[in-house]
Amino acid sequence: MKDVLIASDLVGCRYRLVQRRAHPDTPRTHASLARKQRHDAAVELVLAALPAKAPGRFRRIDLVGDDWERSLATLEAIAAGYTHITNAVFSTREWMVKAELLLKEEGGYTPVIVSNHRVARRNERHSTLVVPTHRLGLSAPMEAPFKIRHHAVDGYRLALTARGLEHVGQYSGHAGIIGQDRTQAFFTETSRFDVDTPLEQPLPSAPVRLKECTSCRFWQYCEPQLRAADDISLFLPGDRAADLRERGINTVQALIDAGLGDTSALAAAWREGIPLLRRGKVSVPRADVEVDVDMEAYLDQGAYLWGAWYEGEYHPFVTWEPLGGKAEAENFSRFWDWLMGIRAGAHAQGKTFAAYCYSAHGENHWMRMSAQRFDSPSLAQVEEFIGSKEWVDLFLHVKRNFAGTMGLGLKQVAPVAGFHWAQEDFDGEESVNARRAALAGDSESRAKLLEYNSGDVQATRVVREWMDRGAPGIRSLRG
Ligand code: SF4
Repeated sequence: MKDVLIASDLVGCRYRLVQRRAHPDTPRTHASLARKQRHDAAVELVLAALPAKAPGRFRRIDLVGDDWERSLATLEAIAAGYTHITNAVFSTREWMVKAELLLKEEGGYTPVIVSNHRVARRNERHSTLVVPTHRLGLSAPMEAPFKIRHHAVDGYRLALTARGLEHVGQYSGHAGIIGQDRTQAFFTETSRFDVDTPLEQPLPSAPVRLKECTSCRFWQYCEPQLRAADDISLFLPGDRAADLRERGINTVQALIDAGLGDTSALAAAWREGIPLLRRGKVSVPRADVEVDVDMEAYLDQGAYLWGAWYEGEYHPFVTWEPLGGKAEAENFSRFWDWLMGIRAGAHAQGKTFAAYCYSAHGENHWMRMSAQRFDSPSLAQVEEFIGSKEWVDLFLHVKRNFAGTMGLGLKQVAPVAGFHWAQEDFDGEESVNARRAALAGDSESRAKLLEYNSGDVQATRVVREWMDRGAPGIRSLRG
């Protein structure tokens, strides 16, 4: 049963299933195991919160055993009319799906799944049926001002579970989902999730490099295949090469030979292992007083670290308390006052000031969100700063000045400028895991997160100073 399709096989790379079938013993990556542990922990919390006893009102059964045993037990439990069936499994010859709970309601069973996504957001203009987790099956769902946020993999899980119930004529017509807020289940229609289209698509016969390849356990098998084919996705991942493929250009060499201006020149540079090419004369804004900034947020709960590099020193403003309350508000306020103090000091001395950030999207979001939630500083103060010339998104200047053969992220550009992180391979997912450990008091994880953030602000500084020197050693795109 382990080779059948599961909901996550329908999202992202479809070749993963082909590789899983060909290499079933390839161990899962650390990140994937950590993701599973996070999901298991969430399920445990939810199952413990579900109604345990209500004599005469319902019958709960907790299914145990392997997937195959539980798929049989699920059908038996439905036939026996249990009102709460936990750890349910449905399987066919083609696919398998797990539902943390099947809830008997009028008209059949309602599947409820647990997800680590944020599945709904408070929104006064929308209304969604909601039940507190501990009242599932005891209270009728009530309308509440939330808007459901759809995540493809959750939608496919619900749609497959609905299909499993339909096969036995027991689907109630709607489904529930419990997300990062474990205390509430949100209800939704499953007819909106089109699972037929991806199910009917044939599996690909060869890999195409995607962003997710960097963290995929099957890269060791796909990479040699892609290199042997000189597949164009090695240079242009995903569907970035779709137009070229339509024109019959399927290999990197064919692209180099096609003489398609900058694209062919970049492909040739990629072939030579050159990461960056200059677009023209390199320039970057500078100021008398300069600060480099980088923020770390945890999921969409809040920002826990605002780090800055100023006058040769790292200044972290951090909280290890739960986010969304007083601790986060005070931390942001301390950072803001510190930064604005330096800005005001520069102005008072008639000096220019600039704060730099590499790709400011996240920083702008959390500055605005912090102002909206805590009002100290106000949103108007934050908007004034973000809109000023003194808040510089260095990434935009990098994009203006360079073309990259492997992307223009800080991780690609900073090493060319001569900066190397003390710790490698600390990606977004690992930082989420580290943040969880840090919150639980793990001092090693706390130190690691600070070191990582300190590396990012220093990398930003190194890149802009290198650009200011004209990016020595970088070849021009136009030859
Ligand atoms: S390495 Fe990439 S192409 Fe291969 S299975 Fe993984 S995600 Fe798909």
